[in-house]
Amino acid sequence: MTGTLATASQTGNDTARNQRYDTVIHRRRTRTVMVGDVPIGSEHPVAVQSMINEDTLDIEGAVAGIRRLADAGCEIVRVTTPSMAHAKAMGDIRAALRAQGCGVPLVADVHHNGIRIALEVAKHVDKVRINPGLFVFDKPDPGRQDFSREEFEAIGRRIKDDFAPLVEVLKTQNKALRIGVNHGSLAERMLFTYGDTPEGMVESAMEFVRLCDELDFHNIVISMKASRAPVMLAAYRLMADTLDREGFHYPLHLGVTEAGDGDYGRIKSTAGIATLLAEGLGDTIRVSLTEAPEKEIPVCFSILQALGLRKTMVEYVACPSCGRTLFNLEEVLNQVRDATSHLTGLDIAVMGCIVNGPGEMADADYGYVGKTPGIISLYRGREEIRKVPETEGVEALIQLIKDDGRWVDPA
Ligand code: SF4
Repeated sequence: MTGTLATASQTGNDTARNQRYDTVIHRRRTRTVMVGDVPIGSEHPVAVQSMINEDTLDIEGAVAGIRRLADAGCEIVRVTTPSMAHAKAMGDIRAALRAQGCGVPLVADVHHNGIRIALEVAKHVDKVRINPGLFVFDKPDPGRQDFSREEFEAIGRRIKDDFAPLVEVLKTQNKALRIGVNHGSLAERMLFTYGDTPEGMVESAMEFVRLCDELDFHNIVISMKASRAPVMLAAYRLMADTLDREGFHYPLHLGVTEAGDGDYGRIKSTAGIATLLAEGLGDTIRVSLTEAPEKEIPVCFSILQALGLRKTMVEYVACPSCGRTLFNLEEVLNQVRDATSHLTGLDIAVMGCIVNGPGEMADADYGYVGKTPGIISLYRGREEIRKVPETEGVEALIQLIKDDGRWVDPA
């Protein structure tokens, strides 16, 4: 028996090790959860989502915000519903969007003691997001010294009583649920029992996951967000291991909360999201920036493209330039990008010299390479096709793509 187990475990380890050296990402196997007409799960492209920042009661503003996101490529849009009035407003928002031909799936966020709000808003959206730390919420008691097992379980029973009707509604309407844990808003009983830790975050989610399982409801997506990337990384990894160990193959929604703005906000989000995606974790992502929400979408797509998980734009390979560079690389890269950025699906390389350029542009479909001063070599794959004066280089590249039948005019 031991020998059999050792062999099985050895095989598993070998597989895992071999996968680490693969040049493609092996995604954790997850079930498909439909959010409107967008499938989330390992059999589908990683979905991109965001959240509007308009007041939900401002129907016109919210509709415009959702449409801006959808037009930017956002595939699922979240809206906050802190009160019953906000929940009812979602009905008007949805109707206005559909009347305008915008079918983007909608998600409603509910927070403190939000069961009544959740039941109302479930009618108008495709997914409801609950925060386990707030769903049944008692004000923290600053004088409390501990939390007894009886107290812990009594709150668990209240959660079950409140949660079951929501699950029933979601099940009947075939809608989805996000169990969205936030590191900064764990319930007091979880903090006392597990501390402010990834384990506390995972246990917060698992309580709801197990309740859903008891109620035979499986349209679940789970998130474990934190504003510090190392915390978020640990929480998602532990969550995935815990789910898999218990036989739950639910998709994960990745994000770093309060990442801020500008370059650092993008880098911080990427550090968290891309690290997990590279490990095969994550089926939908949101980059949270303190900027207009539609600015989050190109960052999401860039992360997915860089990891080879989705191809939504031209992949440019360009050398950093050095003393051997035979032309103004930055300027030419911009010219090439301006001319070709609409050709989704192509890989185009711009390399400064033929010493290292052709080798390093790897598997690019086309290459623009400095040959000698003032002369450019154009490549198709690894084959040098023609030499042209630098002044004609970009036009000649476009002509080559046209000759190959791979050109489309910009929209
Ligand atoms: S490809 Fe040539 S020009 Fe570019 S960095 Fe390498 S050696 Fe320098």
